Amino acid sequence: MPTYQYACNACAHEFEVFQSFSDASLTQCPECKGDIRKVYSAVGVVFKGSGFYKTDSVKSKSSSDVAKPAPAAPAAAPAPKAD
Ligand SMILES: [Zn+2]
Repeated sequence: MPTYQYACNACAHEFEVFQSFSDASLTQCPECKGDIRKVYSAVGVVFKGSGFYKTDSVKSKSSSDVAKPAPAAPAAAPAPKAD
């Protein structure tokens, strides 16, 4: 079961929570009921929240440059198989 680390934006309280992937994320600090944020470590957690798709958008941006139809290059047609 993955461990999620949270940090409070209000009181800087940090704590860890054992959660399964299906559990809802915590949003409240247990100390002050303030807003908390997840502190991500490099454990390969799937980020469901917004704001974590920068690498994806960069990737799609570069791929959009080659979205135009490629010039008809003479493709070497494979010889028909004669079984
Ligand atoms: Zn707090």
